Amino acid sequence: MNCIFCKIVRKEIPSKILYEDDLVLAFEDIAPQAPIHILVIPKKHYSTVLDINENDKELIGHIFMVINKIVKQKGIDEKGFRVVMNCNSQGGQTVFHVHFHILAGRQMHWPPG
Ligand code: AMP
Ligand code: ZN
Repeated sequence: MNCIFCKIVRKEIPSKILYEDDLVLAFEDIAPQAPIHILVIPKKHYSTVLDINENDKELIGHIFMVINKIVKQKGIDEKGFRVVMNCNSQGGQTVFHVHFHILAGRQMHWPPG
């Protein structure tokens, strides 16, 4: 499958990995939109959040445990951060392998662009 994030999982293309276990990989975004911009992805390919179903509850819970661990390691837990997931065209999704953005290190605004 010609998916760039699957290639990152298989280490076929380089990335700056911050966390890895059997289910999840976290790495730095190549075009950071904040001083800290990390992507957390399931190793298994899901194109969009719409592909996540009943059987994936444990995985999604695990991803949030990983996010929790990363923000503490990075020391951005107290000041704050944003977790974002984009879905399909109007949601602004450009890579069709499910990923959570962690953004931090500057003031976030609402509404988002
Ligand atoms: P989205 O627009 O929500 O689909 O987010 C895709 C994100 O993947 C963007 O923030 C890109 O900068 C990032 N990205 C694309 N290719 C790479 C790559 N090879 N390594 C790291 N991040 C990437
Ligand atoms: Zn993929």
